[in-house]
Amino acid sequence: MISLVRKCVKEMNAYVPGEQPSDPAVVKLNTNENPYPPSPAVMRALKGIAPDMLRRYPDPDCKDLRAAIAKLHGCKAEQVFVGNGSDEILALASRAFVEDDGLLAYFDPSYSLYPVLARIRDVKTFAVGLNNDFSWPARPWRLPAKTGLFYMTNPNAPTGMLYPKKDVLSFCRKFRRVVIIDEAYADFARENDMDLALKLKNTLVLRTLSKAYSLAGLRVGYAVGPKELIAALFKVKDSYNVDRAAQCLALAAINDQAHMRANARRVKATRERLANALRNMDFEAPPSETNFIWARPGRLTAKSLFLKLRRKNILVRYFGAGLTREYLRISIGTDDQINRLLKTISEITD
Ligand code: PMP
Repeated sequence: MISLVRKCVKEMNAYVPGEQPSDPAVVKLNTNENPYPPSPAVMRALKGIAPDMLRRYPDPDCKDLRAAIAKLHGCKAEQVFVGNGSDEILALASRAFVEDDGLLAYFDPSYSLYPVLARIRDVKTFAVGLNNDFSWPARPWRLPAKTGLFYMTNPNAPTGMLYPKKDVLSFCRKFRRVVIIDEAYADFARENDMDLALKLKNTLVLRTLSKAYSLAGLRVGYAVGPKELIAALFKVKDSYNVDRAAQCLALAAINDQAHMRANARRVKATRERLANALRNMDFEAPPSETNFIWARPGRLTAKSLFLKLRRKNILVRYFGAGLTREYLRISIGTDDQINRLLKTISEITD
């Protein structure tokens, strides 16, 4: 029988996103969304979207939005690429920077989309296993010669840990091919690697409006880096990859840094409170530089706690493979949601 579907697509497992339950009673701490609303300027821009704006195609080059992002990071617009979420940019990079007989590499554990993108391209993967404490093994930049692209999540997900800049710089200098530093959570961290994207020839930094800007539903992410790499992403994208409404609302969000920073501060304060409370209940919780906590329960297994919380209408994320088997990833919610989580955990574990 002739197969209508490519062999690699038939055989691959699709990426599994976190559940999106429709029941508003569920306390949803499973997909690292921001619990607070986006900037009022975004909501005003939304009200201003006229029928004529939707009738016409969007700007294929996202000029206004790229100019605003370039100003924010002190670079030129040709060093900025905007995508339909940062997920789209990760996929475009797998098309632009990896040969058919090349490899795609990343740390394990990190964002579970990366191997899926390699399967779609039908290229081999090279997963650099992290140590048991989720730190780097020695000389992680020593990769097979055909590796075209390394996805480095910093701060890492799902561990929430930040790799020090000097290590990231060594990696980018020693690995001669393209490095994408996936900074989806950088707005919650004490430092970021944007300066590396502005000075190295092989390094792109990826940001998203889904987390700190509270716009996961809008689908906007961007990459910053050397103009040759940005130009390559432009060549392989769909003509109109970012819709008109998204460009307009993202511009309003980028122009209100104060709102984003205030929300990130609130999330960080709740994060510290949650981490301390969990440690007091015998959890191990490494310091987080993100909007979630990576927590290993001391009194029952992660899987059993995950299932018990689920029965009480509280959703957290459980990955359940390899090094991640003993941990839960808990997104930072509102203070009320976190109080409910803590109360429920103490009832379950006492
Ligand atoms: N990178 C990492 C590490 C993430 O956790 C996520 C969110 N799942 C993304 C990228 C994708 O974000 P976006 O909503 O911009 O596609």
